[in-house]
Amino acid sequence: MEKKFVRAIFPGSFDPITNGHLDVIGRGIKLFDELIIAVGRSPIKNQLFTPEERVEMIAELIADMPNVSVESFDGLTVKYAAKRKADLILRGLRSLTDVQYEFKLAMTNRAVAGIETVFVMTSEQYGFTSSTLIREAASLGGDVSNMVPKNVYNRLQQRFDSAASDP
Ligand code: ADP
Repeated sequence: MEKKFVRAIFPGSFDPITNGHLDVIGRGIKLFDELIIAVGRSPIKNQLFTPEERVEMIAELIADMPNVSVESFDGLTVKYAAKRKADLILRGLRSLTDVQYEFKLAMTNRAVAGIETVFVMTSEQYGFTSSTLIREAASLGGDVSNMVPKNVYNRLQQRFDSAASDP
C-alpha cells in the first residue's frame, strides 16, 4: 500500500519559542512528512513579542530543518488546519496538568472538525519550561539561558535592557 503524505500543524502562542517547543518540533518531524509551526495571532495574556517577532525567531531556528515551516494564523485553529489541508494537529505534553487541558482541547477540535491531535512528550529536562514563566523570569532579570535558544535569549535581553533604560 502506498504511504500517505502526512502534513501536521503545531499551533501555539510561542511567546517566545522555548527549548521545550524545539524538542517537540524535533520529535514531531520524525513522525510526519511536513510540519507547519503555526503562531496564533489572537492576543494572549501579557503578550511580550508581536506575532511577527515570534515568527521571525522561529524562522531563524528552523532554517536548516527540511519540511518544517512557520507562519502565523488568525482565529480558530481547526479552520486554519482545514485551510492548510493538515491531517493532524501536533501538541506537546509536559505534565499531567497539561494532559487535562490538552485532552479537552483535542476532544473539542475532533468534535467540531473531525481532526485528530497527536501528542509527544517532552524530554525530562524541559518538563518545567514554559513561555509564561520565561517571560516573567526574564522581565525580573532571571537567567533563562538554559531554557531558550540563543537567538531568543538575545531578544529577551534586548527587550528588557531597553525597558530598564527607559525614563
Ligand atoms: P498555547 O497558548 O496554545 O498553549 P504554547 O506556546 O504555550 O501555546 O504551547 C504550544 C504547545 O507546546 C502546547 O501543546 C504546549 O503544551 C506545548 N509546550 C509548551 N512548552 C512545552 C515544553 N517545555 N515541552 C513540551 N511541550 C511544550
